[in-house]
Amino acid sequence: MDKLKAAILIVSDTASQDPASDKTANALAPILAAEGKWEPPAIKIVPDNVFQIQQAVCEWSDSANWYNLILLSGGTGFAIKDNTPEAVSPLIHRHAPGLVHGMIAASLKVTPFAMMSRPVAGVRDKSLIITLPGSPKGAIENLEAVVKLLPHACLQSAGANSRNMHAAGVKSLEAEAGVSADSSSGTQLQKKQSICSHHHGPGHVAPKAHTSSNRQQSNDPSAGPNRRYRSSPYPMLSVEEALMQISEHTPEPIIVDAPVNTAIVGSVVAEDVYAAESVPAYKASIVDGYAVIAPDSSNNAPSTKGVFPVASITHANVGGSLKPLQPGTIARITTGAPLPPNANAVVMVEDTDLVSSTPDGTEEATVEILTGDIEPGENVREPGSDVRLGEKILTRGDIISPTGGEIGLLASTGIRTVKVFRKPRVGVLSTGDELVEHDDPCTLTGGQIRDSNRPSLLSCLSSWGFPTVDLGIARDTPASELEHALRDSLRGVGRASSSVDVIVTTGGVSMGELDLLKPTIERTLGGTIHFGRVSMKPGKPTTFATIPFKEAGDGNTQQERKSKLIFSLPGNPASALVTLNLFVLPSLHKLCGLGESSRALSTKPWLAPQLGLPRVAVVLTHHFPLDPKRTEYHRAVVTGSRSDGRLYATSTGVEGVGQRSSRVGSLASANALVVLRPGRGVGIKGEIVEALMMGSVYGSDTRLIC
Ligand code: AMP
Ligand code: MG
Repeated sequence: MDKLKAAILIVSDTASQDPASDKTANALAPILAAEGKWEPPAIKIVPDNVFQIQQAVCEWSDSANWYNLILLSGGTGFAIKDNTPEAVSPLIHRHAPGLVHGMIAASLKVTPFAMMSRPVAGVRDKSLIITLPGSPKGAIENLEAVVKLLPHACLQSAGANSRNMHAAGVKSLEAEAGVSADSSSGTQLQKKQSICSHHHGPGHVAPKAHTSSNRQQSNDPSAGPNRRYRSSPYPMLSVEEALMQISEHTPEPIIVDAPVNTAIVGSVVAEDVYAAESVPAYKASIVDGYAVIAPDSSNNAPSTKGVFPVASITHANVGGSLKPLQPGTIARITTGAPLPPNANAVVMVEDTDLVSSTPDGTEEATVEILTGDIEPGENVREPGSDVRLGEKILTRGDIISPTGGEIGLLASTGIRTVKVFRKPRVGVLSTGDELVEHDDPCTLTGGQIRDSNRPSLLSCLSSWGFPTVDLGIARDTPASELEHALRDSLRGVGRASSSVDVIVTTGGVSMGELDLLKPTIERTLGGTIHFGRVSMKPGKPTTFATIPFKEAGDGNTQQERKSKLIFSLPGNPASALVTLNLFVLPSLHKLCGLGESSRALSTKPWLAPQLGLPRVAVVLTHHFPLDPKRTEYHRAVVTGSRSDGRLYATSTGVEGVGQRSSRVGSLASANALVVLRPGRGVGIKGEIVEALMMGSVYGSDTRLIC
């Protein structure tokens, strides 16, 4: 087995000023070394500052060269400046309370003061993060309590196949780790935890059970009430597991040749681009004035000062060849114009005086140059001085930004087409008998509602720069309407003039007998549902599937079987928009090559775009209610404070009250989704949590006094 990578972050104001005063890093490194499974750890010291702690941890966990284990020491006590747990908690994707329990149990055997530490442990992406006390003694005790189990925990976090790892049974794992169930309370807990993680590990298998023929119950809409499911047969995945499924089943991006114009804004460049022309292509003047033959100052040649006949005039738009400049003459020249042959410098018009005009008075005849120290090359742009012919101007993974910089570079260097990753076409389909077009002038009757999801999802997708197709409404009855709408959009007939790559539907994924999406995908279209339930609020019934599809061939070539993606989002308006942001966007980002962009920038992880919405840490401005079981994506306004530089989150609902997924208005002013991990009670005012930014941050004068 290759050795695992560990990093130690010392959090201490004192040690950050005087690194020699730190004794803990040197005390921890030998404990890891003694296990024989770790590379020598990276060590860094930061002060008790939330931002610097988070930055150091993220550099280690989020970069291409990520670390398996990140240990932090210090700042876990009750003193005001102790804020390591507050810095680390929002970074953790999956908490590991078993490790915390194990460390506290071990320390309690030594001192009741163990109750005064507030450790945090858990996994961010693939890195295991553990906070330890600041004192060398406390840190050693805590690390020793869990150190034997860390390689196993790290390998699981990194995505090693948990099935194989467990094949030999828990006993063999214990033997390998050098622990046994009765060795210490900490390791017993760890043992239980690793068994449980069977069900949640990355080796999760896509749901299949509901399609087996001998089962009693069915998702077939024609099965009748006796055989219809009364609870969802789809396993409940965590958001992180659902995102992993999406990433795994989203195809690699496709490369196309695209003309250089505004349509490629937002595209990711698919191959390195080299200049087809030099910029400038000729020796050009950068001022209005007179082209001269400036003497080389080293060989005592005559100065440029004096009165000269004006031989010619050159404007910026001159094509063809120019007459060479004769010694003793000068040529009037405008900004950007090519210098005549022999000329090597330009004197600014401000440094000259008119001496005489031509007899008809229309042109200059002689001009006096007032300065004698013009050097060769002065006020001249040499050919290729901006961009050389053949120079690399863009790198695979670069993004064509809306600011116009990249388009300008391509345009000025003679590039007419560029290879980019194709942006996926996304179709949006609403489902439901109750839906009425939003602009239908009719008065609603009975249980009718306006189809608000389709315009809102389409506008969100367009704002992200993806081409969209409005697929209209598919009625629930007859059931074949949904099937036809989906087939047509895949084939590119009907409302979709050409085939879509991704279909987004809303409604019809809950537990009602008219919720037809899942059976239609599986039974009628032969698709595979990768998940049909996610432990989140709102958005629980979100469904993700792939449908096999044969691209129409030209008759000679064999038809290629591809798979198209279908995201079936819940019908409730807030759920639909939240899940579009959370699940569909990362997939579209991968399809349009942003994954390549991240890889290209992996040496600078803080610059590399992440797939999906940007994640930031925010301070809660009031209490937010927590769901006991599901992670909530609470719609909020995030403001950047001018007073203290922090980001603050305020609910778009009533302060301290939960948000209903059916509330259309909860997203109207929201620019962020605050991630509230499940728990009892409330997320408290002043707490730092993670938020996903959907829009730009608003400026404010927020200051929080708790
Ligand atoms: P369903 O999952 O189809 O049962 O939909 C759940 C609820 O979402 C419905 O009762 C509607 O109130 C709402 N809904 C479904 N589709 C839309 C839509 N296109 N626009 C607005 N609301 C919708
Ligand atoms: Mg419905």
